[in-house]
Amino acid sequence: MRNDQQYDWFYKKPAWRKIREMALSRDDYLCQHCFDEGVFKQADLVHHIVYVENDFNKALSLENLVSLCHACHNEVHKNDNKRHIRRNSRKYLKQKQLEKKKINIIKLK
Ligand SMILES: [Zn+2]
Ligand SMILES: [Zn+2]
Repeated sequence: MRNDQQYDWFYKKPAWRKIREMALSRDDYLCQHCFDEGVFKQADLVHHIVYVENDFNKALSLENLVSLCHACHNEVHKNDNKRHIRRNSRKYLKQKQLEKKKINIIKLK
């Protein structure tokens, strides 16, 4: 949630609160980055994988949301300047794992 002030109005919208709640319940109110590490930690907020300011069409899209704890959220935004936004997304990590598996399978053959 960068540019909190600029998009303040958005985060106050009932539509956002609704989709945020949906994202949290989908993720079982757990931080998804910690979960990927096998750690169960309660999510503190819902983060936009593609930022609101980058693509407003995805602002209310459930697939673009991920529940995170404060620590992981800070970690994600720390990489903003490096343009590694997608690196920490759950989908991206899953895809990477799949690619690794595929490579291993190919190697075995
Ligand atoms: Zn964020
Ligand atoms: Zn976390």
